[in-house]
Amino acid sequence: MSQLASFDRSLYNSLPGVEEVDRLVRSSGKLEMALATLGSLFVRHNMCDKWGLSILHSHWFVDAGQTPLQEALAGPEGKEFVTMPRVGPFSQPVWPSLFAVASGMLQPMEFSTDKVAQEANAALSESSFLYEFAATLTSLDLATTFGLILVREPEDATREFVEFNRDGSSVLRPVLSTEVDRDSLVQTSWRFAPDAVGASCQASCFQTCTVSDSGHIKNPHQKLHRPGE
Ligand SMILES: [Zn+2]
Repeated sequence: MSQLASFDRSLYNSLPGVEEVDRLVRSSGKLEMALATLGSLFVRHNMCDKWGLSILHSHWFVDAGQTPLQEALAGPEGKEFVTMPRVGPFSQPVWPSLFAVASGMLQPMEFSTDKVAQEANAALSESSFLYEFAATLTSLDLATTFGLILVREPEDATREFVEFNRDGSSVLRPVLSTEVDRDSLVQTSWRFAPDAVGASCQASCFQTCTVSDSGHIKNPHQKLHRPGE
């Protein structure tokens, strides 16, 4: 069943920019608190390889009739994902790839046509994870800042996903880890993994995000592949 109808454009458009929310989550201690307290929930429900925690932010405005939709493309460096506001109806099924919690309810914020999203949503439907996630975020006063995001793994283990943004679209691209300029990127998404004894878990960032259009990749040749250039 499609959840497209429950997309709330005004909620999406009210999200802060990534630099602003990054400053806020770090200075307030909310990021530390979220990573320290939410991992056990993902582990207990076996969601670590499907869903992670993301700071909610926006890069572009969604007009009436549009929905943020992600599509997979074959890029020069492997499979990449392009998200932009698109006008339905869509010719293929779509599934939520990002959820926010608003008024205690899960709200889909972005959608994907990818099979990975279908499988991850199927896992949610068989679990009480969503309810516990929403209740926990709300009780810790983290709901306006954090959401639930589909975990993405590059096909090639020497690469990691970097989100490049331009007016009206975002491209998630697998960049060689040795060429990622971490100082100019904002960490936006974390996944959890149980530690060796299963008593606690560790969070690791699996997606970073560019804040502007200037140099985020050390190797200048990479710039040839950047969107908008
Ligand atoms: Zn972003």
